[in-house]
Amino acid sequence: KVTLFWFRRDLRLDDNTGLFYALQQEKNALPIFIFDQNILEKLEDKDDARVGFIHDQITKLKSQLEQKGSSMIVRIGKPLEIYKSLLEEYSIQAVYTNRDYEPYAKERDQAVSELLKNHGAEFFTFKDQMIFEPGEVLNGSGEFYKVFTPYSRVWLENFKGQKIEPLSNFQWKNLYSTNPLPLPSLEEVGFEKSTIEIPPMETDEDIIKHYDKTRNFPAIHGTSRLGIHLRFGTISIRRLAKIAAKLNATYLNELIWREFYMTILAFNPQVVDKAFKPAYDHIPWRNNEEEFEAWCQGKTGYPIVDAGMRELNATGYMHNRVRMIVASFLTKHLLIDWRWGEAYFARKLLDFELASNNGGWQWAAGTGTDAQPYFRVFNPESQTEKFDKDLKYIKKWIPELGTEKYPKPIVDHKFARQRAIDTYKEALNS
Ligand code: FAD
Repeated sequence: KVTLFWFRRDLRLDDNTGLFYALQQEKNALPIFIFDQNILEKLEDKDDARVGFIHDQITKLKSQLEQKGSSMIVRIGKPLEIYKSLLEEYSIQAVYTNRDYEPYAKERDQAVSELLKNHGAEFFTFKDQMIFEPGEVLNGSGEFYKVFTPYSRVWLENFKGQKIEPLSNFQWKNLYSTNPLPLPSLEEVGFEKSTIEIPPMETDEDIIKHYDKTRNFPAIHGTSRLGIHLRFGTISIRRLAKIAAKLNATYLNELIWREFYMTILAFNPQVVDKAFKPAYDHIPWRNNEEEFEAWCQGKTGYPIVDAGMRELNATGYMHNRVRMIVASFLTKHLLIDWRWGEAYFARKLLDFELASNNGGWQWAAGTGTDAQPYFRVFNPESQTEKFDKDLKYIKKWIPELGTEKYPKPIVDHKFARQRAIDTYKEALNS
């Protein structure tokens, strides 16, 4: 008999809750990873860097497990189908895994859990990717918070009241012993290597220490760039939150935003394609495809917007300040549906996280929880003046700035600002 530990967005051995309990409570624990075709078939780019990153992590984890005398089952396919065939190959006692709160993941886990139960196998899930999962931070009437500030206050109180310690003393002797199992290549998964570099996983304590002072300036390397590692769980949120609590309250606050948006999505799965505030679903977006294309390519003639989009296209990363500016520009200046921008970010961002991306876009479009009020429209010029005064960031991404080659502004700022306010006002009053 074996017990499987199913890796998903927790690609590490360190402080991995579900893995810890699988080893603690069972003998013969065998890890498994599934390249999930339900997810992969939706990706547009064959050289998607995130798939390469996952493949590299799986390769590493598998070899670490092999050094301990075990291995990892690695399969490609739809999870339900894979489990059907695993149930024939192995005598499975239970499957352990860490909870995932996205709508697709919940549905998948429900189906797998039912299949296993029908075969007499248990399905155990654990909290791992969050400090406080949806439902753990509630208001006095037992409801989830729709606004960040009171949520973060209660989150912090809970955090201070409980000692968060990463797990240790993993019972590695309870791993299932086996010869190495096969590992499909990235090509067999249907992808190829990307040229995009993945930011390192090391937490740079100096950056976190000064985070509150440096975080808003895109020309400075003043943020941690750990997004992709939080997304795929190559870093433990408990380790990071402990460091943050010691070094910088503003940084910890950003980790709370992450959990706030995850909670909003878990309780309001409709936000995936609807405005959090339903009245905002009546905005008549212009959705001009040529303008959208200019935005995607970084050719709007607004340097700070174009620099951001070019950074995104070239590196899979964009600084948070600039994400806010480009998102505001798309939804307000161009009146293009926030869902278009959200989908483009989802395709390009290494750190793409459904909950934060949706939250960020709805914030910028004014349709979300703690939204930017619609009559406040970011002015790209004054944002540049405040956050990239010497044009260092802009010039890095737009070497042709100031020459004939650089496009003229796609729309006049004053005109666009008024048009956005009028359009929103009319839609909300109708
Ligand atoms: P740091 O500034 O070093 O912050 C550390 C971590 O805190 C981040 O990695 C992230 O996990 C979390 N965090 C920071 N800011 C936020 C925030 N505002 N909301 C939620 N979590 C936050 N973040 C994503 O992780 N994935 C996304 O797909 C995403 N899309 C966004 C789209 C828009 C339009 C906007 C305005 C913001 C988006 N963000 C997203 C939030 C934020 O921009 C990124 O988390 C951050 O820029 C990532 O860089 P970093 O790792 O250096 O973050």
